[in-house]
Amino acid sequence: MAKELYNLGEMPPLGEVPEKMHAWLIRPERFGKPTEAFQQEVVGVPAIADDEVLVYVMAAGINYNNVWAGLGIPVNVIAARNKAGEKEDFHIGGSDASGIVYKIGKDVTHVKVGDEVVVHCGTWDRNCAWVKGGGDPMYSPSFRIWGYETNWGSFAQFTKVQGQQCMPKPKHMNWEEAASYVLVGATAWRMLHGWGANAVKKGDVALIWGGAGGLGSMAIQIVKAAGATPIAMVSGEDKFDYCLKLGAKGCINRNRFDHWGMLPHWKDNVGYAKWLKGVRGFGAAIWEALGEKRSPNIVFEHPGETTIPTSIFVCDTGGMVVVCAGTTGYNATVDLRYLWMRQKRLQGSHFANAEQSYQMNELALRGLLDPCLSRAFTYAELPVAHQLMHDNKHPHGNMAVLVGATAFGQGASGKPPVATAHPTLPKGDVHTTPAPYPLSAPLPGIAEAEAIQISDDGTKVKDLMHRGIIACAPGDTVGQVAKIMVDNEIHAVVVMEGGRAVGVVSQTDMVLARQGRTSEEARSMLAKDIMTPGCATCDAQMLLSDAVSLMTGRRMHRLVVTENEQPAGVISMTDVVRKIIGE
Ligand code: NAP
Repeated sequence: MAKELYNLGEMPPLGEVPEKMHAWLIRPERFGKPTEAFQQEVVGVPAIADDEVLVYVMAAGINYNNVWAGLGIPVNVIAARNKAGEKEDFHIGGSDASGIVYKIGKDVTHVKVGDEVVVHCGTWDRNCAWVKGGGDPMYSPSFRIWGYETNWGSFAQFTKVQGQQCMPKPKHMNWEEAASYVLVGATAWRMLHGWGANAVKKGDVALIWGGAGGLGSMAIQIVKAAGATPIAMVSGEDKFDYCLKLGAKGCINRNRFDHWGMLPHWKDNVGYAKWLKGVRGFGAAIWEALGEKRSPNIVFEHPGETTIPTSIFVCDTGGMVVVCAGTTGYNATVDLRYLWMRQKRLQGSHFANAEQSYQMNELALRGLLDPCLSRAFTYAELPVAHQLMHDNKHPHGNMAVLVGATAFGQGASGKPPVATAHPTLPKGDVHTTPAPYPLSAPLPGIAEAEAIQISDDGTKVKDLMHRGIIACAPGDTVGQVAKIMVDNEIHAVVVMEGGRAVGVVSQTDMVLARQGRTSEEARSMLAKDIMTPGCATCDAQMLLSDAVSLMTGRRMHRLVVTENEQPAGVISMTDVVRKIIGE
C-alpha cells in the first residue's frame, strides 16, 4: 500500500503519488525576510487537470521573484489568487525545476511517466480565445509565471505544471544544473530571436549588459550559437575570462566610464557635451573590443535607467535595443533624435512562449548552452539562498537548490554532446545592484483603473499659494530677467504677454542659458528663447496633489497660479514642504 508521505530524498516508486508532501511554504502571517517567510510544512499533493502534469522535483532554480513573494510586496500573491477564486492560504514558490514526470492528465501527449524533464515557467489558459486563435500566449490575459503568480511551484517534493511546460532534461547536466538555466535562457532567447527583422542573425554584433549575470551569460551563448558576435559588459576585469570562455569576442569594464544615468537636459550644452564625450568613449571601447568599427545591431538590455541612453546611442542604425527589466530604475530617458533619425527600435520583451523555450532548450540539449550554475544549496538552505539574494550578497550567475536529489552532482546520465568550457566566476564576486521589483508584477491597465484608490486631504493650490506675480516681457533680455530675480530675491519670473502668462523663466532656465555660452551671449538672449512655455501654470482651484504631480512630472519647482485665467500667484515645492512640517 502507498505511503501517505515520503521523507525528503526517499523517492516514491515511479508513478506512485503519495497523499502528502514536504514543501517550503510562504504564508501571509509571516511575510517578511526570507529566513522567516519560508517554513517547512507538510501539505496535500495537488490534484492535476487534464492538461497538467505532476513532476517529482529533483532540484529547483532560485530567482528573485520568491524573495518578493515572501515579503508580500509589491503584490500579496496569496491574496491575489484567493481573490481570483483559488482557496489555498499559502504560496509554494519556485519557477525553475528539474525532475521526473510522475503523473499526467489525459490530454497530455508529449511526456510520459518516468520522463526526466526541465520546466519552463510560462503558463496560460489553453481555452483563452487569443491562444486558441493562434496568438502568442505571452500576450494572453491568462499568462502567469508558474511558481510566482501561480501556486504549486518547485519548492516542494511535487510540482503541478501544464504539460506544455515540460521539456526534455539535457542528459549531460546534473539535477541542479538542469534546474538553473531555463527561466533566464528562455527569456534571453525571446529577446534575441523573438523580434522579427531585428532577431539576431549570422554576422550581427550584439552588446550584452551584465555578461556574467544570469541573463547575460545565456545571451552570450545564444548570440554565439547564431553565428553572431557577442560583446559583454561587466563591472570588473576579473570577469572577462568568464565571458570570453562563454563565447564573447571582447569585454568592457563599465566602471571605466561615468556617463551613466538619466540623460542631461537637451538644453544643457555643457552637460550634454560631457555625456556625448562619455558615450562616444564607450562606443570606441566597443570598436576596440570588437576589433572593427561597427555598431551593435542588437543591444541586450536589463539594467534600464542607468544604461538605456547609452544603449540607444551606440545601437546601429535600424538596430534594436531589447529590454526585459529595469534593475536600476524604470524612468529610462531617450534622446528621440537618435531613435527616429536612425530608425532604431526600443523593444520590450518578457519571458518566452513554449516554442521559444523549446528552441532555447534545444541548444542546451546539444551541449551548446552551459547552465552557468554559480552556487547550489541543500533543501534546508532554501531560505538562506533567498536571504542572500534579499541582502544582495548572492553570487552572479544562476543558483539552484536540491529537493529530491540527495547530494550535489547527481542525475547526469550522459556525456556533453560537445566539449563545453564550463567556466567559473571569480571567487567572492557578488552583486552591486539589487533587483528593484519582481520580473512579473501586475501593471494597472484600463480594466483596473476604477479600482485604484487615491487618498487626498483635499488641500487646494489656493490654500498654499503666494499671491502676486513678478513678471517680465517675452522680449526682455536674460540680463534684465536676472536683475528682476536678484532685486526681488525670487527664483522664477513669469513671462507675460497681452495680460496672459505665456511662460516662466526659472533659475534652471537661466543657468542652462549660460551653459556653453559666454556671459555676454547668455545675457543678450531673450526671455522667450529660454522660458519654459506657458503650460507651467495651474488653476488656484487645482488639488495640491495634482499640482505636485505636474511639478515632479515636468521636473519643475514652481507653477504660476491662475484665477479666471489671469495670473494670480505662484506655488512652489517649498510651499509643499512647509505644509509637510506644519508651518
Ligand atoms: P543578475 O544575475 O543579477 O545579473 C544582472 C547583471 O546586471 C549583473 O551581473 C551586473 O553585472 C549587471 N548590472 C548590475 N548593475 C548594473 C548597472 N548599474 N549597469 C550595468 N549593469 C549592471 O540578474 P539576471 O538574472 O541576469 O536578471 C537581470 C534582470 O532581469 C533582473 O532585474 C531580473 O529580475 C530581470 N529578469 C527579467 C525577466 C523577464 O522575463 N522579464 C526574466 C529574467 C530576469 P556587472 O556588475 O558585472 O556589470
